[in-house]
Amino acid sequence: MGESELKSRIRCGIDFDKAGRQAGYLRAPLSRNTSGWGTVEIPVVCVKNGSGPTVLLTGGVHGDEYEGLIAVSRLARTLDPATIQGRVIMLPAINVPAILNDTRLSPVDGRDLNRCFPGNPKGTFSEMLAHFIDAVVLPHVDISIDVHTAGHSMESALSTNMHYASDPAMRKRTMEAAAAFGAPFNVVFWGVDEGATLTSSVERRGILSLGTELGGWGRVNVEGVRIGERGLTNTLKHFGLMDGCTETSQRDGSAQTRHMMVRDQDCYLFSPSAGLFEPRHLAGETVEAGQSAGFLHFVEDVDRPAVELFYARSGVLWMASGPGRVQRGDAVAVVMNDYDDALCEA
Ligand SMILES: [Zn+2]
Repeated sequence: MGESELKSRIRCGIDFDKAGRQAGYLRAPLSRNTSGWGTVEIPVVCVKNGSGPTVLLTGGVHGDEYEGLIAVSRLARTLDPATIQGRVIMLPAINVPAILNDTRLSPVDGRDLNRCFPGNPKGTFSEMLAHFIDAVVLPHVDISIDVHTAGHSMESALSTNMHYASDPAMRKRTMEAAAAFGAPFNVVFWGVDEGATLTSSVERRGILSLGTELGGWGRVNVEGVRIGERGLTNTLKHFGLMDGCTETSQRDGSAQTRHMMVRDQDCYLFSPSAGLFEPRHLAGETVEAGQSAGFLHFVEDVDRPAVELFYARSGVLWMASGPGRVQRGDAVAVVMNDYDDALCEA
């Protein structure tokens, strides 16, 4: 018996097969000093009516990414089953311990939930949670929208994102779903550390997968929440769960999402050492290969010169550095280019 068939230790307070609106909690066991039989309660809302596809909306996989928490929570509170044909499963605040701790990683086990898939029901808290999502929730799901931002670590241009799917039909469906979501950019990427993410589990099951990056810098991005909420509703309309036309007009006057890609490793700029990084550009700005990306300062050393970092690729800044202090090997910029299918890798 593989890990995915082992029984989850998490109890689910609602029945995904029942019609109407159900709101409750997943109850995940967590032994602690104040309670050996203690649990962590994780909000879950399921809205089901008639027949149609099942959409999974997840927020708070990382605890310091606020726009998804807000957008999915609001939809979970307000979505009327009478307006739906199909099923919407919402986990607006999955990683409750990290959310309450305001951190990317879980304070319970120090793990990144989004690097624990497909999980293990007998593993650490994050592994147990990942296993529940993979083994109990995903078998119901046709379409997954996982709402992220760049958290404290960076600032992102407002975007959906997707893996380069090797199946052309799935790639087309996913790009169409991204265009319907209607963020300013949709970023196709590959070749990063993705083996244990929620997206990897979703894709392994043949489910359409879309992620987002809707801000960052450790604060609520006003436009990120607006684009996120509009995008969730657009998605339900696009897949026929909800009536109405999608609304994808952009602030800059363009009518639709601009499809982009992260071409290769040269699009990622990493800090060569620990220090204080002074970026020169904001996410969404156009940058040139060879142009100064910023300076790495060593303010604790008298007269030590700052190190200037340069972009290796021209394009639009998808991710810009945020926190000031960086470690050696931290990404401080990610450059994206207009999408070209001929330049992508499976
Ligand atoms: Zn995230």
